[in-house]
Amino acid sequence: MRTKRSLILGTLLVFISLAWFLPVQGAEPKNVILLIGDGMGPQAVGLAVYYNRFMNGMEKRLHMERLMAAGNTGYCLTYQYGTVVTDSASAATALASGVKTRDAIIGKDHDGRVMKSIVDIARQLGKSAGVISNTRLTHATPAGFYAHVIHRDMENEIAVQLIERGDLAVALSGGAQHFIPAGTKVEDHPSLKGIDRKAGWGGSRRKDARDLIAEAKAKGYAFVANEKELLALDARKTEKVLGLFSASGFPSAIDRQPQHETGVPTLSQLTEKSLEILKKNPQGFFLMVEGGQIDWVEHGNDVASVLHEMLEFDQAVGRVMDFAEKTPDTLVIVTADHDTGGLAIGYSNYNPPAPVKLPSGETWKTKYNFADKSIFEKMATQKKSFLKMFQDSKGNPAAFKKEVEENSAFSISEEQSAALLAKDAKEAFPLPKEYGEFYVYSAGNPTALMGRLFGKETNTAWAAGTHTHTPVMIFAHGPMAEKFRGLLDNTDVPQIIAKGWGATLPASK
Ligand SMILES: [Zn+2]
Repeated sequence: MRTKRSLILGTLLVFISLAWFLPVQGAEPKNVILLIGDGMGPQAVGLAVYYNRFMNGMEKRLHMERLMAAGNTGYCLTYQYGTVVTDSASAATALASGVKTRDAIIGKDHDGRVMKSIVDIARQLGKSAGVISNTRLTHATPAGFYAHVIHRDMENEIAVQLIERGDLAVALSGGAQHFIPAGTKVEDHPSLKGIDRKAGWGGSRRKDARDLIAEAKAKGYAFVANEKELLALDARKTEKVLGLFSASGFPSAIDRQPQHETGVPTLSQLTEKSLEILKKNPQGFFLMVEGGQIDWVEHGNDVASVLHEMLEFDQAVGRVMDFAEKTPDTLVIVTADHDTGGLAIGYSNYNPPAPVKLPSGETWKTKYNFADKSIFEKMATQKKSFLKMFQDSKGNPAAFKKEVEENSAFSISEEQSAALLAKDAKEAFPLPKEYGEFYVYSAGNPTALMGRLFGKETNTAWAAGTHTHTPVMIFAHGPMAEKFRGLLDNTDVPQIIAKGWGATLPASK
């Protein structure tokens, strides 16, 4: 009798303690912050991790590693509908709606059916939502979370969809050229006077007279156009904010360092202000933060610029982690939409180190250069992106040589400069000699050739000028973080979040 009673008591106790612990373990996150490094393959993560260790101290850790340390890490497959390699639009659709689709499609499945996104689910649950990117608000990754179009190039339509839905509390990026009436210049628009020339000016890309900034203001949006205006914005009094900081994409992070005085906010400033606004909703929020230009400089095979983009992205991860550590019902997910470029830091037979006499009396000799700290010192020396050096030299070989030598650790002869800048009859720049088919954007600028020319100086080689199949890393922190361990599919990401919120994806709209 006594044993029976203690058995019942014991069972009860087990149930009570399970009931006590289970909801905590499986608790649904009130807030979800998804950070996407566009093109951030494992190689780019490794580049930043090693840079930080070799330059700042072997004990130093990136903010990203604060997430990795908890062990909720995995790999994510990125293939799209029917093909091995993905495009950013289809990858964004996978990460936002949980469905595989064809390249260039945003917010629709492979049959063209309009799909719900995790932003739609958040809104239905009364949560706030936001998107941030250092590319354009209408670019593939942010668009994947709020728009539905058959081709990512329909950026004017994407801008209309954003403003017409009008329910994103935070929308901060570049791309003002898609929000102002045809025939106007960004620098002449009354709301965009705060954009500095160095941030990027340009004419409207619209074909109609719609002023989407005025429409947004009429819908209750506060509007900001530079760092100063962003910082001055009172989050307590702001329900919704639209920010456009450049006509097109932001300047590259390397070209946006303080000395370049662009007036464009950093990704972490954007993140911080967004969190202040979004956290006011007692129901919680969903925020997508894109480090969007890791991909852009990888397309150009410009390793030092990749490093700057990675460090900028990592700073934003840091602000998010600070927030999440103070706000425990917040799930943070860091991943990429795909790898770009197939970056390799490899050993080479260029400049092997001198022999070393060891304390043992032996002499250590090597035939190869395994890449020491000096490769990072050279990367740190670079003050401008390859693209900006190219643009600032305006096609003049002597000016190009000067640009390269003043802004990097590399040297180039005037003959080499002339060869890089020589256009063919079709006004195209020369392509890398091998694998020219994988340099689909290089006809417009020769930066990939600069990557080839200077590669040996930083032990850097590139596989392609396009996206690759490489699975990407995924790290998570907070409630449900353990669900992001192991081998995932990019479509799992929003499905796990939706499920945690009691909803289902994919779902047609
Ligand atoms: Zn991408």
